[in-house]
Amino acid sequence: MIVQPNESVVARVLELRRTIHRRPELGFEEHETAALVERELEALGIEYRRIAKTGVVGIVRGAKPGRVVGLRADMDALPITERTGLPFASEIDGKMHACGHDAHTAMLLGAARVLHGARERLSGTTVLIFQPAEEGPGGAEPMIAQGALDDPKVEAIAMLHVDPRLEAGAISITPGPVNASADELYITVRGKGGHGAYPHTAVDTIPAAAAIVLALQNIAAREVDPLKSVVVSIGTIAGGYRNNVIADEVQMSGTLRAFDPAIRDTFEHRVHRIVNGVAGAYNARAEIKLVRGYPPVINNDALAENLAVYLREFTKIRVERLSPTMGGEDFAYFAQRVPGVHVRLGVRNESEGAVHAGHSPEFRIDEAALPIGVEVLVAFASGVGDGGIGV
Ligand SMILES: [Zn+2]
Ligand SMILES: [Zn+2]
Repeated sequence: MIVQPNESVVARVLELRRTIHRRPELGFEEHETAALVERELEALGIEYRRIAKTGVVGIVRGAKPGRVVGLRADMDALPITERTGLPFASEIDGKMHACGHDAHTAMLLGAARVLHGARERLSGTTVLIFQPAEEGPGGAEPMIAQGALDDPKVEAIAMLHVDPRLEAGAISITPGPVNASADELYITVRGKGGHGAYPHTAVDTIPAAAAIVLALQNIAAREVDPLKSVVVSIGTIAGGYRNNVIADEVQMSGTLRAFDPAIRDTFEHRVHRIVNGVAGAYNARAEIKLVRGYPPVINNDALAENLAVYLREFTKIRVERLSPTMGGEDFAYFAQRVPGVHVRLGVRNESEGAVHAGHSPEFRIDEAALPIGVEVLVAFASGVGDGGIGV
């Protein structure tokens, strides 16, 4: 079932998006946003429940039998001060919808409106998942733990993410891995302090730390198959007291990313071997903490291909296939549980200044993309529901 959102649906989606944009809320603090979602579902006559503190699950039951399909949107904002100058810019200092989750939530509410309005023709059930805290600490896992995929049992799931690399009017569907795992690395190098003029009496942690930073790059440069993608980035380094004092401690933090779960699982061992080995060579000691973050998002191959074919056949939407990115996304947990597909929605428009990357204080989107997103969500729910899109 292909339903293009009509004018009133589009107008409502724009209004909702701007309302949410004005009132950004951080992870698990999405009280206003969740209440707005609930009010909208209530007004439409769609049943819903609250889980995972600020998460909302709505259910649209089609009149005809069919599959149970999940649609997921995230609702949280970022701790960034907005600098777009838009008339509906953030009213809350230090918080901004700089990743487009306002648009995701509004489009899912638009899709809910369309699907509920067409429920007499709809096969299967659509589960609307409004998720908190994608930007951290992670809302997908608690939503799943509290039954978001279980009642009714979701058989396939999709999400949209706005993407300023892609022109508004286009979407991208890529089979296989599309987002990387994102693990956090913390290293403390310990030595022995002393006078800068007498290094032989101390254990200097500065050269040890420098050597560790360089040696860690060997994971990407020398240890992993060059055809497999990994990233090792050290983001912070801090230590020392003044120019002529030998630093007894250096602290560093970084991020480790991969698409392949098997390669990701080798990080722990590799990091320990390299960091301890290099620290030892400099007569220093190291403490290492690796915190596992989101797993990679792996789109289900068949579902992604079938959705792309379906949209090319039945809609005018331009379907492209962008390369994966090393960004993280906690939709990964949903896609681990059921076949899932992360669809990128083009929002780039140079004439409107919609060119900045997500998480930039100048991030903005071309809102002409929003009806396309609604159409994709509706097509996925109804197409998977009635078997037009095979799982
Ligand atoms: Zn983000
Ligand atoms: Zn995001």
